[in-house]
Amino acid sequence: MSMDFSIPAELTELRGAFADFLEREVRPLEQEYTREYWGPSLDPEAATPLISQVRRRSADAGFYAPYLPEAAGGHGLSVLGTTLLVEDAAASGMRLAMVAVAPPNPAGPSTLLLKLPAHLWSTYVLPVATGHQTMCFALSEPEAGSDAQSIRTQAVLDGDEWVINGTKHYITNGADANFAIVFAVTDAQKRAAGGITAFVVPREQYRVGQIQYNMSDSHPAELFFDNARVPADHVIGEVGMGFLEAMSFLNAGRAYIGAQALGLAEFCLTSAAEHTRSRTAFGKPLAKFQGVSFPLARSKVDIEAMRWLVYHLAWRVDTHQDALAIMGDASITKYATTEWAYEVADRALQAYGGMGLMREGPIERVLRHLRMLRVVEGASEVQLLVIARTLGL
Ligand SMILES: Cc1cc2nc3c(=O)[nH]c(=O)nc-3n(C[C@H](O)[C@H](O)[C@H](O)COP(=O)(O)OP(=O)(O)OC[C@H]3O[C@@H](n4cnc5c(N)ncnc54)[C@H](O)[C@@H]3O)c2cc1C
Repeated sequence: MSMDFSIPAELTELRGAFADFLEREVRPLEQEYTREYWGPSLDPEAATPLISQVRRRSADAGFYAPYLPEAAGGHGLSVLGTTLLVEDAAASGMRLAMVAVAPPNPAGPSTLLLKLPAHLWSTYVLPVATGHQTMCFALSEPEAGSDAQSIRTQAVLDGDEWVINGTKHYITNGADANFAIVFAVTDAQKRAAGGITAFVVPREQYRVGQIQYNMSDSHPAELFFDNARVPADHVIGEVGMGFLEAMSFLNAGRAYIGAQALGLAEFCLTSAAEHTRSRTAFGKPLAKFQGVSFPLARSKVDIEAMRWLVYHLAWRVDTHQDALAIMGDASITKYATTEWAYEVADRALQAYGGMGLMREGPIERVLRHLRMLRVVEGASEVQLLVIARTLGL
């Protein structure tokens, strides 16, 4: 069997066009964002209009949610292609760049929406594919995080409507989304094996509670479902299959998280290398001290290892290899990339000294974000659990 590690020419071309777009359209907004949001007020709301602008500009330029099929308003871009754009967005160091690609993690359109009946696409698929609306993904609850199949939110059929009751928390984009994908128990005996259903629920059917401010710059929200009602056709895929439907998109999602970690690590290393070449101490550039350059060399090793984990995972998904068989690789990729990228950022911070800790410096925000990635979307220990299972443990 042949092995080809080259990036297809059309994807290299696409990356070039995306880099131009980021510099031309997003960089000026990023500068404004830095001034507004990163000013003394630290007001997260200040960013909202800029984020909407990035969404719309990116959709016009053809980069927004490119992984959706053309029939759904996307470009049918492969997982590898999307992975490369996510990596480049993160590596640009611009906070707003990730919004331009909008991978389902953290808050882009979920490919689960494609399982909705065709007549609902104009309401729930096309508006998010074009960046006019946004959604959120509501699985976690106060009593069920890592052990997601223990959710308590329930859905009961009443005539031709489902009635949903329960509380979700830590939901990214929860306060701003126009609708939510909500997971609820429809058969308490079966749970993950046929008893959890995914629904699309419009904003007017639920209440947004507290914004959950945390150390990252992404502030999720509580959502309350108090007799929320949706028509029977608002089930995503089949009744009872919500958990399994979600699993089928998880592998691509792990490639995107990995790409995000990879790109952020690249940004940290590039920044730290540049900084240590130009800053002097004891009569020479910091980079000339092996105590400074060796940790950065180690980071380069980590980054190259991350890169091939991510690209390989994307390739496995694109070549339609069995989703269950890929799961182990997906967990290895999520675990390794987020853990290593955090180390890379930490070494970069050290190389910057005091500036590494400063809000005005480039690393502090990235380190906080990477710390979050080790917890969300299946914490590191949950990935180890999956990996251990592949060993028969
Ligand atoms: C900023 C942010 C954004 C988020 N966005 C979303 C979102 O959009 N949608 C959504 O549904 N959820 C979201 N979440 C929730 C996130 O997925 C959960 O926080 C995560 O799954 C961990 O669950 P938990 O916080 O309940 O921790 P717990 O499940 O209580 O875990 C606590 C610790 O125990 C460890 N642990 C648990 N079980 C085991 C085990 N069997 N073996 C070893 N260790 C174990 C965990 O790894 C973790 O370190 C978000 C969270 C945050 C912080």
